[in-house]
Amino acid sequence: MSKLAETSGRDQRPKAEIRRPKEIRNPKSEGRNTGSLIDPGFGLRTFFGLRPSTFGLQFVCIVFLALATCFVGCGKQAGYKPQPLPDDLPKRFDAQRAWRDLERVVSFGPRPSGSEALAHTATYIVEQLRATTMEVEEQTFRTNTPRGPITFKNIIARTRPGCPPRLIIGGHYDTKWFPDFRFVGANDGGSSTAALLELARALDKQPVDAWLVWFDGEECIKTYEDGDGLFGSMYFARTLHGQKRLREVQAMILLDMVGDRNFRLTLPKPYPLEQHLTKKTFEAAYAVGLRNFVSLLPTAIYDDHIPFLLNRVEAVNLIDYDYGNLPGQNNFWHTERDTLERCAPESLGIAGQIALELIRRVAMEKWPRD
Ligand SMILES: [Zn+2]
Repeated sequence: MSKLAETSGRDQRPKAEIRRPKEIRNPKSEGRNTGSLIDPGFGLRTFFGLRPSTFGLQFVCIVFLALATCFVGCGKQAGYKPQPLPDDLPKRFDAQRAWRDLERVVSFGPRPSGSEALAHTATYIVEQLRATTMEVEEQTFRTNTPRGPITFKNIIARTRPGCPPRLIIGGHYDTKWFPDFRFVGANDGGSSTAALLELARALDKQPVDAWLVWFDGEECIKTYEDGDGLFGSMYFARTLHGQKRLREVQAMILLDMVGDRNFRLTLPKPYPLEQHLTKKTFEAAYAVGLRNFVSLLPTAIYDDHIPFLLNRVEAVNLIDYDYGNLPGQNNFWHTERDTLERCAPESLGIAGQIALELIRRVAMEKWPRD
C-alpha cells in the first residue's frame, strides 16, 4: 500500500496527486440503483480531505444516497437470519498455526504478481481452504501493467456455498516487486495471507455470511496511481459492482501488515465511511483485553479497502504501519529487512483476536438495516 501520510518521510506522493482510479466509474451515468453511488466530487481528492469546505454537504448527500440505496436494495436479502456468533470466537484464532502458514508462505521467496512463487502461494492457500467446508473460487483476470500484461488471481472463500458477501474480510498475498534486492515480505504480504487463513479456519461452519478474499496485485509496480496498484481489489469491487451486489455488503474488513513483532494497529484516520467500523474496532479490542494494541494514525492510507470506500461500502483497515527499529520510522517497510525475524506469532494472534471480535460484533448488528 501507499501511505498518504503527512508525517511520514517515506510517503512518495503528495496528496494532491492522488487521483480517483479509473476503474471506479462515474456514478452520474449509472443511476441510483447500481450500488456505486459516488458523487462525482467524491473522488480521492475530496475523500482525503483536500476540499474540506464542501465535504459537509457531500457527506449529507452521501448519507441520503446511502439511505436511498438501502431502501432500494435491502429487501433482497430478507429471509436469512444468521445466528449470533459464539462469544469465544476470538479464542479460536490459533496464532501458532497462523505462524506456520507464514513460515510456509515466506519459504516460497519473493512473490510478486505473475510469479511462479505467487502461484505456489495460491496453491497453498487453496489447499488449506480445502480442509475447511468453505466454498472456494479463484478469480483470474489479465490486465496491462507498467511491466506489461500480467495475469492476476484473487482467491475467494465463502463461509457457505453461494452466501451473500455480507462481510468481506480481505488481505493481499502478493509482495512488491523489487528487482534490486530480495524482498520476501514476511509482514507486507505474508502476514495478511497467514492471518486470513487462520480467520477462515475460525469462521468455518460459523453462522455468518462472509467472504474471505486474498487479493492479488495490491502492490504497485512503479507508483500508486491510475492503472498501477490495487489490481485485485479494484477488479473484485468492479465485478461485484457489475453484478449489482455491492449493496449486499455490510462491511469490508482489511488486514495488512499484522506480523510486526512490535505490534500495534495504527488505524487510518477515519473518513465518514470508516468511522463506524473504526469505533467498533476499538470496542472489540477493549472487549478482548487488547485495547493497548490499537491506535489511530493522523492520516489516510491507500490500500485495498479504498475500492470499497469509493463504492460507498463501509470499511476499516486493520494495519500496523509502524514497522521499524525506531518509533514512526517504518524503515523495515518495503526493504530487505521485512523478514520473519522481525515478525512474531503473538502479533498475528493479537490481530486475529481483534478481527474475530470485530467480526462477531458486526455480525450481531441488524442487517439489512431497514
Ligand atoms: Zn507493500
